[in-house]
Amino acid sequence: MIRIKSRMFLVLAVLVASIFPLNFFPHIQDLPAGAHGQLSGKQGEVVVVTVPVKGEPIKVVGHLLDREIMFFPKGTGNYVGLLGLDMQDKPGQHDLGIQVEYPDHKDRHKVTVLLMKEDYKVQHLKLPKKMVDLDSKTLVRVKQEAKILHHAFDTALPDPLWNSSFIEPVQGRVSGRFGSRRVINGESKRPHSGEDIAAPDGTPVVAMNRGIVRLAMDHFFTGKGVILDHGLGLFSMYFHLSEVDVTQGQMVEKGDPIGKVGATGRATGPHLHWGVRLNGASIDPYSLLKISFNGSS
Ligand SMILES: [Zn+2]
Repeated sequence: MIRIKSRMFLVLAVLVASIFPLNFFPHIQDLPAGAHGQLSGKQGEVVVVTVPVKGEPIKVVGHLLDREIMFFPKGTGNYVGLLGLDMQDKPGQHDLGIQVEYPDHKDRHKVTVLLMKEDYKVQHLKLPKKMVDLDSKTLVRVKQEAKILHHAFDTALPDPLWNSSFIEPVQGRVSGRFGSRRVINGESKRPHSGEDIAAPDGTPVVAMNRGIVRLAMDHFFTGKGVILDHGLGLFSMYFHLSEVDVTQGQMVEKGDPIGKVGATGRATGPHLHWGVRLNGASIDPYSLLKISFNGSS
């Protein structure tokens, strides 16, 4: 009986160790925080990764799946990177390779990231037929606008422009959750890439943090919108505005008004679509609110 119990305990211990491997090796020296598999997060989340460095590296860069993550200095002896887990990344174990480049050599680290599945809901929407079945002229417009949008994310400023924590651009009821699988007029569409926050028409929308206005636009799907570039591959999007109050290239501070809530583009009522893109990954904007740090060195 005792033997069975101890065997059961062993099985349990191995099981727990496979889920939380580093709990059993808490003091491994000289490896990035997150080494040996304890880095984990759900689809759509952002994970903060800290890498210890010696002296002054020229550059610290990470790679996860086919995305590049730029790290920035934080305090002495550490570099920090924001790792975005895309809402459509495959659950399971992935390698995060980190390269620390010094003037005379390179250090390489490998960290296992345990990516967990998020339980996204299905959202059924009914929209006017002309907003779904596009005529050829609109299709041309939509394709052009997709290109413009794509190029807005081309730049990756080498330093973070943001500082300390992030804030909600508008307060209200979340009417369309990030990641929800959308069925529009009975047809499956792409999952929702942001959070829809319902608020009265004309409510001021503020910048979630400091950044440069990369794009101020009026597109078919997104309506009037703003894209802010916060540096290091972090962008925030504000769509369906009734009014845009900033111009391209302008620097805005955290909390600065950038526009007003509306229902322009493909929208069924006044709301803000708030999206965040991090190193090419679509992440849940609310996951940024959970982290707090100082972006500057
Ligand atoms: Zn939306």
